[in-house]
Amino acid sequence: MKAIRGATTVTADTPQQIRESVKELLGAIVAKNKLDFDNIICIMFSNTADIKSYYPAKAAREAGYSSCALYSSLEPEIEGALKLCIRVMVLVEGNAHPEHVYINEAKSLRKDITSILNIAVDGPAGSGKSTVSKLVAERLGILYLDTGAMYRALAYKCVKDNKDYGDKDVVKHITNKLNLKIQYKDGKQVTLLDGEDVSEFIRTPQVSLLASYVSTYSFVRQKMVALQREIAQKTSCILDGRDIGTNVLPGCKFKFYLTASAEVRATRRFEEDKAKGGRQTYEDVLYEINERDFQDKNRAVAPLKKAADAVEIDTSDMSIEEVVQEIITKIQEQI
Ligand code: C5P
Repeated sequence: MKAIRGATTVTADTPQQIRESVKELLGAIVAKNKLDFDNIICIMFSNTADIKSYYPAKAAREAGYSSCALYSSLEPEIEGALKLCIRVMVLVEGNAHPEHVYINEAKSLRKDITSILNIAVDGPAGSGKSTVSKLVAERLGILYLDTGAMYRALAYKCVKDNKDYGDKDVVKHITNKLNLKIQYKDGKQVTLLDGEDVSEFIRTPQVSLLASYVSTYSFVRQKMVALQREIAQKTSCILDGRDIGTNVLPGCKFKFYLTASAEVRATRRFEEDKAKGGRQTYEDVLYEINERDFQDKNRAVAPLKKAADAVEIDTSDMSIEEVVQEIITKIQEQI
């Protein structure tokens, strides 16, 4: 048996809206989970106390869900909670991975739990952090903060100005003067260096390795971590990096650590590079991944490691969608 969760909101407490919303919510659950009506054992609704005009269970029966047990209950009134919200749990036969469905205002997390929501995602290069974090951010209606872009911007500045990144004093000087800003355009992160959008330029293999190198300096980390904390304090966001759960936001409630074998990660990066017209060989990519892993895990300051309270997800044999769902489910379960 599996339990599929879902929720939606209506804009007014009218029988028509409740009927339509319940139909839409259950329809989406059935479609996303490829359910057979005969396999549905029971559908349980709970709705906020401001929904009085119609029973969601009755709406479900009218929508054709009549061969399973149906039940509606009222939620206690919680200050700051979502308004006009219908939640549901559908119990079905089968062991497949459940696809939960959140529609309308229910897409964002319960506002009574936290006004600012931070999610930490750490892990080595190629573990799927950025792809997954972007999707989780989109589904939850929060921002995605790619912290690696900050270290990359500094590395790019060293390359562009032809500076000796091995000279600590030189890097310190550049770091102190660094004019780095993170902005969002249509929900997408834009990395501005000296006012110029460098989001694309910081993605080269050379910058990747150099970012890993300069990020070992403690003064670099202090600067970037301060900037990351400033953004996280003001905005609900999912941050991905190497030390978010251990160092940037150690008190963060939601922490994930993604892993995958070096070979799987190298294959992913190799395919990405190839699709973009890149010419790196698989061996080059694997070498770069192993080098970065070594540098990131063995540096003295805030090395890459799983926070003791982080949920570890090995993404080697999982699809992107499965990882996204697992993270969202774990968050929904904890609130
Ligand atoms: O995540 P991304 O591959 O863009 O990061 C580039 C490099 O920046 C990493 O290899 C790592 O050394 C460094 N980094 C870090 N701490 C973070 C994010 C990235 O040290 N929070």
